[in-house]
Amino acid sequence: MRLNTTSQTRRIIQLVLCCIGSLICLIGITKLGLSRQQIFQIAGFSLPKVSLQGLLSSITMFCCILMVFIHYSHGSKAATFIIFFSLISSTSAIFRSHSLSALPGVISPIVSLTSILIIYHFYKKSTINSYTDLITGLKNRRKFLEELQDRIYSQKEFQIACLEIEDFKQLNDIYGIQVGDYILKECAKELKKSLGKKNSLFKITGAIFTIIFDGECDAEEFLFEAIKPKNFPLPLENDKKSDNHRTTVISFAAGIAKYPEHGTDDKQLFKKADIALAYAKKSSVSKLCTYTEELELAEIKQKEAEALIRESLENDYFYLVYQPQFTIADKKLRGFETLIRCKKPDGSIVSPALFIPAAEKSNLILKIDDYVLKRAMKEFKPVLENKGENYIISINVSAKNIGMEDFSSRVKAIIAETNFPPKCLEIEITEYSLAESLATTIKNINDLRTIGVKIALDDFGTGYTSIAQLMNLPINLLKIDKSLIDNIESNSNIRDLVDSVIYMGHIMNCEVISEGVENEQQIGVLKAHKCDFVQGFVWGKPVSFNDAVNFIN
Ligand code: C2E
Ligand code: MG
Ligand code: MG
Repeated sequence: MRLNTTSQTRRIIQLVLCCIGSLICLIGITKLGLSRQQIFQIAGFSLPKVSLQGLLSSITMFCCILMVFIHYSHGSKAATFIIFFSLISSTSAIFRSHSLSALPGVISPIVSLTSILIIYHFYKKSTINSYTDLITGLKNRRKFLEELQDRIYSQKEFQIACLEIEDFKQLNDIYGIQVGDYILKECAKELKKSLGKKNSLFKITGAIFTIIFDGECDAEEFLFEAIKPKNFPLPLENDKKSDNHRTTVISFAAGIAKYPEHGTDDKQLFKKADIALAYAKKSSVSKLCTYTEELELAEIKQKEAEALIRESLENDYFYLVYQPQFTIADKKLRGFETLIRCKKPDGSIVSPALFIPAAEKSNLILKIDDYVLKRAMKEFKPVLENKGENYIISINVSAKNIGMEDFSSRVKAIIAETNFPPKCLEIEITEYSLAESLATTIKNINDLRTIGVKIALDDFGTGYTSIAQLMNLPINLLKIDKSLIDNIESNSNIRDLVDSVIYMGHIMNCEVISEGVENEQQIGVLKAHKCDFVQGFVWGKPVSFNDAVNFIN
């Protein structure tokens, strides 16, 4: 075992202190009036003829015991050497004196060595426990950091990776802690099997593993395969013997950091692999990520945005603005799209473009969506009661949210709580909702549509939904994205494309709205192509709640 300089110095100091301590003890006992012979008798040794030899060999052996804890192989070599030396000197003494009286000089080191081995046995056992993860039997975080220090000390290139089982908390909640432990054990076995002997695997905490890859190993290639989602058979439940088809899908996210490129000390390197892991976890593109400086900056920005969102939710910095939507034929008010804003204590307004993407990468988007749904319905309920239930309040909902099992029941609960007319509510989803969890999304959409809630597909034209998929979508409104509208007057290809999208929307039994419309020429083109509604700065910017109510009057 190689130790780094700090821990080596610390242990040498400990050793010196122990030696001094034991000498003080010996002197103390001598002061009690005990003779050297009595002391050695108390310690269980017979005093050799040459008592100084006995004293020295005992102290040397005591040092050996301590050495064992610093470096086992050095300590045991020293102990063997001393026994060998004592044997020779005792044998020569026996030969010289023709008597066996020199033998006790050998007994002392033998007794000491036996003690060393016994102590070492217990020490090793306790060390194994303190270096082992109890669930998987893998080396733990403490051992990981020590081995990391050792690798750094050797100054050879290597890579480390942090891997986390995705949605492990959810798996634990669904199947219980025992199955959770089983999953951890099996994952540990699988990873270990494919890793090979040169690379070390550790279990750090929760569902997080780390790997120290040998310099020659291609960490990315290994992890690319290891993190892929795999079908995972679950153990049979005792009470349900017939249920022998229980499987779940297990996948990992992983972050890589390289020595010395990304850091030259253990904590720095571990932190960078952890940053890469955090990024990979949130990414919808790749679940494997190698650390870069840009990534750390993005992570800092993400953390700042998350802090702002939490602060805003706690201190009510959020508020809503409403952008009017009109029928294109006669400029009649259709309703409003609800858009969130954040007003910081210094008076500055933060655009949702800055914090919504950060919220979507974390679960904070669920809180934001919940806030907007409640607040918009609460604000507009009395207005609709007074002015008639003829207006639509459209609310943006993240893909993550609508893909959750309980989404429709949560929306229904808010409708009930605010007593909002469901036919006046429209939920805006994006094409990403279809990429995330299509089946649950469609189930939620159908569930809400049965009570009269409308569904709009936002930002159409920016994603990659196939026509076949789109045709099967139970939506009411297709929102053509601003990027398609921008050049509609000047680019005949785009004009034809928008024309096809409107036509397609109508085939699907949907109404079509164009968003981001900024001038009357665009309105003219859209009218000619039979677009139903328009939303844009040309006829109305997002306004406060009071101004929105004035639109109705
Ligand atoms: P979106 O849902 O596509 O909203 C339309 C965005 O286009 C809004 O920006 C709106 O102010 C802007 N816009 C509308 N007409 C025009 C125009 O004629 N010209 C220009 N240049 N812009 C126009 P905003 O309010 O900054 O929102 C940006 C995005 O943030 C939204 O895009 C939506 O994806 C998200 N977002 C906003 N509010 C919420 C919310 O309450 N919940 C969720 N989940 N997302 C929200
Ligand atoms: Mg929208
Ligand atoms: Mg949009």
